Amino acid sequence: MSSLSEKSMAKIGFERFIPQIDISDKKSWFWRHGVELPEIFVPLWQLLVNETLLAEVSSKGLHDFLGFNGRIFLSMVMPDELIDKLRLEDYFKLINDLRPDATIIPDNYTYVDDPLFLSWSQTVKLISFANDFLKLDIPLIGMVKGANHLQIDWAIKKQVEMGYVSFAMPARELLEDNLLEDLLPGAIMSLRRVSKRTRRDLELLIYGVGHRLRHKEINSYSNLSWFLEAKQGHYFKGGKLHSFKDPEIRFEECTCEACGGMMPQELIDLMLSDKELGLKTLALHNLLDMNEALKRGR
Ligand SMILES: [Zn+2]
Repeated sequence: MSSLSEKSMAKIGFERFIPQIDISDKKSWFWRHGVELPEIFVPLWQLLVNETLLAEVSSKGLHDFLGFNGRIFLSMVMPDELIDKLRLEDYFKLINDLRPDATIIPDNYTYVDDPLFLSWSQTVKLISFANDFLKLDIPLIGMVKGANHLQIDWAIKKQVEMGYVSFAMPARELLEDNLLEDLLPGAIMSLRRVSKRTRRDLELLIYGVGHRLRHKEINSYSNLSWFLEAKQGHYFKGGKLHSFKDPEIRFEECTCEACGGMMPQELIDLMLSDKELGLKTLALHNLLDMNEALKRGR
């Protein structure tokens, strides 16, 4: 890797909760249904697997296509099989066409059980992309990733040296594999140390987890759980997941903007009479509940 550049960057200033949306499913475009939140994440991979959609969004740009006036952040967190398909020029072209307000740097794949040289070469690649992305003229979000503490620590240090101050940590797979609590505390410690040493104020967003984690250093969360769980008929209350039929909550009225006093039982009835409207209401309820629950944890 050639020597690293440096750039002065301002913090993104993440909201406490930033919903991810599904760009291929308008039911997740909550602003069309009267709910206003200032920021969203759009996962790039949803466009990469749909050529027609990609062509249309590329010709209009994300803002025009979505009709969303807030800030749109592009997420590069993607399935492994898509990662190797994109070269630097592809990323630059996509970003130029899509015109997001900020972008995460490209994802890599690191597995804790890979031979170390593989995960190190991926970590070096991450830093190399972080360096190349400095050429872009939009705000950037660094990535907290690595197969072990050493790699995570090194990747954070290098990115901060380049000027990165806002970071996203993809956490869904780590949580599923029961590795998140092995790696997250070390990542937080690395961020704290390098922040102290460089006197830079850093921020950390946890990407892909649908509930609050117990670390107070986390500034922000982003997920699609509010929408995915609604499709499964799951209902959030106080930031926790319930089955619709859970007797504990089934007959409790909800005063959120979407429910307007309806209880889960009434949502079930609504779904039976008008599936579309019921699902839409449940998804918006989940979104508002998650937003409130995460804000309270501040
Ligand atoms: Zn509600």
